[in-house]
Amino acid sequence: MQGSAKSQLPFLALGAVVLAVLVFGVGTRIEGARRLPRQAREAAADARNIRAGVSSLPGAWAVPGPPRVGVQAGHWRIEELPDELYRLRRSTGARWGRYREVDANLDIARRVVEQLRKGGVAAELLPATVPPGYRADAFVAVHADGAARSDVRGWKAATAWRASDASRQLLDALSFTYVRFTDLPEDRYGTTYNMRGYYAFSPHRFHHALDPATPAVIIETGFVTVAEDREVLFGQPDSVALGISSGILRFLARRDRFDPAALQVRTYPAARVMTPNAVLSYHPREGDKVAARLAAGTLVRPVHREGEWVEVILWGNYRRFGWVRESDLELPGDSS
Ligand SMILES: [Zn+2]
Repeated sequence: MQGSAKSQLPFLALGAVVLAVLVFGVGTRIEGARRLPRQAREAAADARNIRAGVSSLPGAWAVPGPPRVGVQAGHWRIEELPDELYRLRRSTGARWGRYREVDANLDIARRVVEQLRKGGVAAELLPATVPPGYRADAFVAVHADGAARSDVRGWKAATAWRASDASRQLLDALSFTYVRFTDLPEDRYGTTYNMRGYYAFSPHRFHHALDPATPAVIIETGFVTVAEDREVLFGQPDSVALGISSGILRFLARRDRFDPAALQVRTYPAARVMTPNAVLSYHPREGDKVAARLAAGTLVRPVHREGEWVEVILWGNYRRFGWVRESDLELPGDSS
């Protein structure tokens, strides 16, 4: 994984520049474009579709005009957080020597905004403080991770606990493009409670938070404490930014502006584990890594369903979460 990431960096940098021209230099025909990877052509098509959508959807339920996107540089101007978030004012982010997370976040977020604007999106750069009830067609919080351990690598992205279908689509689109532009491995078991419970995702707790109908994702772009990741975060910021901006474009181009249901957040009643030693899995997949075994009778709070799996938070032990087989749960009534 690490070797291949290293050897492909120069290629990726070149690819990113070519793609930037292709995606954002709309209408320009580029020699050899047919030979570019499929996702480069798809990203170009996304940008074209967004432009077409902007002009052909007057009177849609959504606000007409170009899509609006907020890109937050994590920890940037953290000292300006309002009183309700005073506890986080000292949360200045990860660092390693002279490398500070906040610098990477800001540099990357600025590039994402610039790239989105070239793609016809009304993008704005946001500091740590989110405007109260912030509404947009998409919101992405840009962070980077830090760890005392050295056996960690890569990126991860997450939605809020209770997320709309649109937020999940944004997450899927971002995950699809980010890995392709950066070639960083995914930190598949690294998503934390703090990511899912990000303060900007918590309008029930804070005034300075997103409107629940704003599709939102937080991304940890890599580890500032790991050399191979730093090489990408600080050395290839344009590739990192393209990984994010093309994911947002991909989401915006594919969403259905006439489907307000996609923006609704579902809630589920509490449930109880029925099977002794039920598996709590990291991912909704048979045979994936087991996070814990749950005793029969354990009370859980479902937040999402996928196939035969239900994502849950443990009641009274909210730092434990994962996926339980639906057949291991007693779900009261209809929970749609
Ligand atoms: Zn951070």
